[in-house]
Amino acid sequence: MTPSDPATGVRPALPDAAPGGAPRQDFIRQIVRDDLASGKHAAIRTRFPPEPNGYLHIGHAKAICLDFGVAEEFGGLCNLRFDDTNPAREDPAFVQAIQEDVRWLGFDWAELRHASDYFEVYALAAEKLIRQGDAFVCDLTPEQIREYRGNLTEPGRDSPFRGRSVEENLDLFRRMRAGEFPDGARTLRAKIDMASGNINLRDPALYRIKHMPHPIAGAGWCIYPMYDFAHALGDAIEGITHSLCTLEFEDHRPLYDWCVDKVDLAGSPDLLAPLSAKGLPNVAAKPRQIEFSRLNINFTVMSKRKLVALVGEGLVDGWDDPRMYTLQGLRRRGYTPAALRLFVDRVGISKQNSVIDFSVLEGALRDELDAHAPRRMAVVDPLKLVLANLPEDHVETLAFANHPKDEALGTREVPFSRELWIERDDFAEVPPKGWKRLVPGGEVRLRGAGIARVDEVVKDADGTVVELRGWLDPESRPGMEGANRKVKGTLHWVSAAHAVAAEIRLYDRLFSVADPDDEAGGRTYRDHLNPDSKRSVRGFVEPAAADAAPEQSYQFERLGYFVADRHDHRPDAPVFNRSVSLRDTWAAKA
Ligand code: ATP
Ligand code: MG
Repeated sequence: MTPSDPATGVRPALPDAAPGGAPRQDFIRQIVRDDLASGKHAAIRTRFPPEPNGYLHIGHAKAICLDFGVAEEFGGLCNLRFDDTNPAREDPAFVQAIQEDVRWLGFDWAELRHASDYFEVYALAAEKLIRQGDAFVCDLTPEQIREYRGNLTEPGRDSPFRGRSVEENLDLFRRMRAGEFPDGARTLRAKIDMASGNINLRDPALYRIKHMPHPIAGAGWCIYPMYDFAHALGDAIEGITHSLCTLEFEDHRPLYDWCVDKVDLAGSPDLLAPLSAKGLPNVAAKPRQIEFSRLNINFTVMSKRKLVALVGEGLVDGWDDPRMYTLQGLRRRGYTPAALRLFVDRVGISKQNSVIDFSVLEGALRDELDAHAPRRMAVVDPLKLVLANLPEDHVETLAFANHPKDEALGTREVPFSRELWIERDDFAEVPPKGWKRLVPGGEVRLRGAGIARVDEVVKDADGTVVELRGWLDPESRPGMEGANRKVKGTLHWVSAAHAVAAEIRLYDRLFSVADPDDEAGGRTYRDHLNPDSKRSVRGFVEPAAADAAPEQSYQFERLGYFVADRHDHRPDAPVFNRSVSLRDTWAAKA
């Protein structure tokens, strides 16, 4: 039962609902709910533990929304912990970017920690294991260790060094730490069971020698703890109640539990002394690891290694290329935190491995922007339309609603004049069947301005249409009786005299096949890049779009959702990125 408030005797309601929504129902939240209800935990604590060796990607967004989201929903706390146990792969630049990404997604951490904060505790814990007879220093080479390990069908063999005395092990471990041996000469291994059916339990390494300074802990270290050991103890130190991770760690759970139980930090306050010295508060507790399935999305690659290669080989324009599935890339593409959180909610949490269709990601963005993005008009492939019956100097200002359904978004002024830019493909001299747009002599509605007709098609020497000349029905202006007659199509436009020339980047999916990781036929994901994933055109936008602040999203009517580029957009030289088209154009192709 939830502990009741001793002052009032009232049991607090379990805060298990998503803000403003129905409670999220998944097996992890159910476990948390049960643990709070049974009184197993008075409060919960989670953590998000990225390795600072790359930028976060959309898969991490799932983990972040879960780790931080569960803590938030149940009134708990979530730490951000950098798993910086491998100095060879880390770059402090990533540490900054990861923090920025987590905050951008809308979360904040209770405490910012690094696994390296605990190096001293890990070393004391290792000595404790040695003294208990639960760890030994092994001199086998990496190749020999592999050989001794056995495989799925064959049990492993004990290392000849397994029987070393506690004194010898302690002495060797301290000398490993003191830098007496070269890289790879010795390891500290857990003494568990070389015949275990779970290979992770066949005397796994806890420490290895690596003569390399650490970016935070400094030059004082030349032994580094292995992931399973460091992670389990890090969770215990921080009092993590629910340690949420992806399914590939399921087979590591017995080792995780072994480390937590054998070291027993809760029962050995002496091991935590180095933390008090550093002023790091700690709440030793026994954490529980719970695994969920990774996020996979078709048409994407999500391994950090491949994302690094795409950038390194110049196949994309950097980590924040709007086609990248890094959070930095998605952000620059126009994905909003709300859209990503909606996506993660729609995907849900389970133990079932699956591949999510890319349209689910695009659909979440479309739904989010449809509800919240103001509307604007822009032309990406401009063709001049002259309304020859208007006076040369005709200029007026029309009032347009910013959103068809949300009045709170207000209205804006849209200049209208005799010469307009319209979309080249909204005109056809010889229309195909079912054509509802402009043809010579035909009528069309100009959004919010009246009904127009084309009388004359002006061409250059090559026969390319360079201008349309026509007529605006003076009786068809908005609000007039004549505006009500039935006309097939409605076109968007911008006033040529007022339009601002803009660079418009028409992005599409980075890969053209559903499974870019498929290496059949010796091909790699590099061979599956979509050659049409980026096309840059010169178009025009209305003044109220040019004015945008960087990262402002709009629906450009009839074209799609666009965002003012975070870095390159300027009101006098606008740059817009297409975030997503209005409809799924890939459904038929996939
Ligand atoms: P990659 O495999 O891309 O290199 P990683 O798992 O090594 O990623 P970490 O920095 O270790 O990256 O990940 C931090 C957290 O994010 C871990 O808890 C990990 O389980 C989680 N995570 C990583 N990728 C995904 C994914 N695709 N879906 C859900 N969670 C993920
Ligand atoms: Mg990892």
